[in-house]
Amino acid sequence: MPDPRHDLKFYDENGDTCFLVEDILFKFDRKKIESQQSPYFNNLLDAHRKGAKETPIHLAGKSAESFGNLCFALFYSIDFSKSKLPPFFLLSNIEHLLLVAKSAWIYECFLLHNLIKNTLPDRAPPRGELISQGSWEIYVDVIAVMDQPNPKSSNQEKEEHKKYHSAVMNTFYSRVIRTQKEVHLEPDSLLVREILKLGTDHEMFASLLYCFLAYRGENSKENIFTDDKNPIGGLYKGRGKERELMLAKLSECRKWLVSQWPHGVERAKSLKDSDYCLPNHIECRNKLKRKLAAWHESQLTEATTHALWDIMGHFYQMSYLAWSLEPQCTGCFEKFEEAMDPLRTAVRNSLKHILIDLKSPPPDGIWPKLR
Ligand SMILES: [Zn+2]
Repeated sequence: MPDPRHDLKFYDENGDTCFLVEDILFKFDRKKIESQQSPYFNNLLDAHRKGAKETPIHLAGKSAESFGNLCFALFYSIDFSKSKLPPFFLLSNIEHLLLVAKSAWIYECFLLHNLIKNTLPDRAPPRGELISQGSWEIYVDVIAVMDQPNPKSSNQEKEEHKKYHSAVMNTFYSRVIRTQKEVHLEPDSLLVREILKLGTDHEMFASLLYCFLAYRGENSKENIFTDDKNPIGGLYKGRGKERELMLAKLSECRKWLVSQWPHGVERAKSLKDSDYCLPNHIECRNKLKRKLAAWHESQLTEATTHALWDIMGHFYQMSYLAWSLEPQCTGCFEKFEEAMDPLRTAVRNSLKHILIDLKSPPPDGIWPKLR
């Protein structure tokens, strides 16, 4: 093995502690790490105090890349344990912030990780932007970070994280449906590969199955699971029984959605006036209410093929109408999306229940009560 080289950014000759990660040396003052109160580092530093001081601390099984991301936060940050706001350098680049969050979690720097989770809603792109543009990786990374449990989060913070997680997932459904309507989502598309990184027991996989269910014919749906050249079919290669179960669950899911359809639309029609808009944006509210009334009516009466049960597609169209008001009002759009969250969450949870947990459909009455 060649001699380890010094990291270009995070090697301070005057530092008192040296870390070896893969074949790269990092050196800086131990207090930078100690301020993180990480159980992982506390154990390592304790062991090192007893051993030979001169040898670097080896971070076995860790990547130099992930440690470098953590160092970025350690070197250029203010004291994370005290600050409520993230340091200035993190503000501009959401991708970078997400990388730091993932590294913070790997190294059990839970204070830093919690801080980033708290501030993500302000740093991530707004909903309108997420639905219409931005990379799939951002969704997947935001969800991955929000999924990581953190023992340092207070109960109130946990509630906030859960709420944000839900909002992003609901927005994600809208985006998947929008994409499905514009370009057919292929089972070997970038999005599918990103989702499969999270695993087939993740609720993002349910969103994918929902889209296949809603927007594909019977044959092509089955092909996705049987063609082992695509990533999804490949997963079920040699697992015929599981594949059959999956297809049966898709049928069961559709039956359940058909039964839920009129209730879901009725419930969506019963939003309060204040749910449609910011306070005093009466013009926005009236315009949107008119558009939505016409939309609901057409969908309850028109005998189109899948419109009569594709409830997530219906909700997506509601968002689209709110987004495309003339003139556009992003404030009212955000307000409206918040009001739609409980409805989407109810369906989402049920879809996960059927398609991922492979349980029988939930009983009637899933629709959240009027507040
Ligand atoms: Zn408005």
